[in-house]
Amino acid sequence: MQLLIPSPLWEQILAHAKSQAPKECCGYMLGRSEGESNILTHFYAMSNIHPQPKEHFSFSPAEQLKVLREFSHLQIIGIYHSHPHSKPIPSQEDRAFMFFETYSNLIISLQGGISFASYRKINQEVQSESVKIYNTL
Ligand SMILES: [Zn+2]
Repeated sequence: MQLLIPSPLWEQILAHAKSQAPKECCGYMLGRSEGESNILTHFYAMSNIHPQPKEHFSFSPAEQLKVLREFSHLQIIGIYHSHPHSKPIPSQEDRAFMFFETYSNLIISLQGGISFASYRKINQEVQSESVKIYNTL
């Protein structure tokens, strides 16, 4: 399993994470699935409406509807969020909220520099997948 991200979009997702710190950022990843690969072609930066946004995130239902409408031609391939103060390891809550086996769950950590990891929950088990950031030029 792998998640493929073109570098210009990766830079934008990273910029979103940095701009929201010390709060967690969150968003949808869109594109298509090919076999074991989720290929990102678009992302949508969501507002984090959780009352404790430094340690948690939740999506706004209104924005979720907007994404579904605006990107109905694309597949939702996953969700990303940031960990401004911890490593890119899914919390209990993160694990519990992985509902769809096809989704990549990307976590971007800003703790002591940038690191990241992506996970999928297959048969109720959270597994890590590789993340490839590639140059489009
Ligand atoms: Zn988390």
